[in-house]
Amino acid sequence: DGSTEEKDLVIIGGGVAGYVAAIKAGQEGLKVACIEKRGALGGTCLNVGCIPSKSLLNNSHLYHQILHDTKNRGIEVGDVKLNLEAMMKAKETSVTGLTKGIEFLFKKNGVEYIKGTGSFINEHEIKVALNEGGETSVKGKNILIATGSEATPFPGLEIDEKRVITSTGALSLEKVPEKMIVIGGGIIGLEMGSVWSRLGAKVTVVEFLNQIGGPGMDTEISKQAQKLLKKQGVEFKLGTKVVSGDQSGETVKLEVDSAKGGKPETLDADVVLVAIGRRPYTSGLALENAGLEVDERGRVVIDSEYRTKASHIRCIGDVTFGPMLAHKAEEEAVAAIEYIKKGYGHVNYGVIPSVMYTHPEVAWVGQNEQELKEKNIPYKIGTFPFSANSRAKTNLDTDGMVKMLADPETDRLLGCHIIGPNAGEMIAEATLALEYGASTEDIARTCHAHPTLAEAFKEAAMATYSKAIHF
Ligand code: FAD
Ligand code: NAD
Repeated sequence: DGSTEEKDLVIIGGGVAGYVAAIKAGQEGLKVACIEKRGALGGTCLNVGCIPSKSLLNNSHLYHQILHDTKNRGIEVGDVKLNLEAMMKAKETSVTGLTKGIEFLFKKNGVEYIKGTGSFINEHEIKVALNEGGETSVKGKNILIATGSEATPFPGLEIDEKRVITSTGALSLEKVPEKMIVIGGGIIGLEMGSVWSRLGAKVTVVEFLNQIGGPGMDTEISKQAQKLLKKQGVEFKLGTKVVSGDQSGETVKLEVDSAKGGKPETLDADVVLVAIGRRPYTSGLALENAGLEVDERGRVVIDSEYRTKASHIRCIGDVTFGPMLAHKAEEEAVAAIEYIKKGYGHVNYGVIPSVMYTHPEVAWVGQNEQELKEKNIPYKIGTFPFSANSRAKTNLDTDGMVKMLADPETDRLLGCHIIGPNAGEMIAEATLALEYGASTEDIARTCHAHPTLAEAFKEAAMATYSKAIHF
């Protein structure tokens, strides 16, 4: 049993944060073990998050498009039928392919994969309750906590993953519900709400705030997104709070209250999706045995080099500070290993893109207009609508726009906000520009291929420092 010797690094959690750190550590020549209890690598993201949701988003979009958007393209289709079981199978094929791929990468990079639940015995030793039964322990010169997050429950509703569900249940419903209520108009609510709305459910999103998409989304873009989602059939109740729930009857009933003091209302649905955020997951870890602390929101407390109170124990990903995003976890994983191996590492937290994979997609990086206003930072704006972009026109997919915010003195890009086809891919260009400290003129003078959607990005930059040509 190789796990009795002391490792250079023991990682608890094989999600994006943990598995990327494990591979990187292997590449750096560290003797590394990764403990994962799920029975599969890849964590939330690969098993019940990013990957299965994008599979369902892609295929439900295709289905919806075939139903509603073929005639004007000169395509006549006959009977279109949903085979939900097959759609779920396609999702599972993507997931299994990717999780198995990580197992292969573990072998390739000499990572020991321990299938079980880890908990601290003391500062240097981890007990593992093995999935196959029995127990082992493993010692590490360094330890990395990467145990991720879980859905925040809604008080008074019991999650059964059938009628009252989290995103996990929403990824595996056995039939399309007639009526679905989504509590929370954040990214999960809108992505999973889109999926089931496209497949035929009547979806109502109840959001506490007055805008959808969460606080990072630029308000102007958020309003456009809401309008377009409404056109697709998703209903919204903004500024509305769910007060209580009752799941004892045939349908699930929710008491909602307008935040503006309107009269209370009762809504009912076959399925209620609770999507009010995620919280750090540390249960069963016995952090106290290593003398470690969590803050008031349950996040493991770390310094700027990911060190906990015990400097050889580091922590990254959803279980600690920062946005709960897979690519953020991945950046931290590489940086944490570099700290361990070389003594230095770096993540630029000001330049982490966000993408909502609805149709159209919404993507952004850097600061939004309301944040700049709040901080009294002066800015200029350039926009370009996809309705004036040749490629979007040929694709008959012209909803949305690119919006850039730049420093009026230096012309340096401060933020970019895109709603439109392929926004999630296009935001990489803005991210690179921001990381390199580009001005909008730098972007506008960079030749972009024609006809591409990316020309809308270039023209928004032109509109920021000068004038767009095509609008
Ligand atoms: P996790 O992925 O949660 O991994 C932690 C792992 O640790 C888990 O596998 C868990 O089983 C294991 N673990 C916990 N405790 C122990 C223990 N004691 N012993 C052993 N193992 C343990 N992010 C994006 O960037 N893009 C997206 O499109 C996106 N879509 C999402 C869609 C959904 C529906 C959800 C829920 C999330 C989505 N996210 C997305 C967020 C993304 O999944 C997370 O940010 C990411 O998974 C965080 O990685 P992590 O490694 O920190 O945590
Ligand atoms: P979120 O924090 O993005 O959104 C939750 C929303 O629920 C907020 O808008 C909040 O105002 C609202 N809310 C909270 N309590 C409420 C109540 N009682 N009644 C009505 N509304 C209420 O959280 P999420 O959508 O659950 O997502 C969780 C995490 O997963 C996020 O960090 C997100 O970034 C990540 N994620 C990312 C992607 C992606 O990158 N495409 C996809 C899915 C999830």
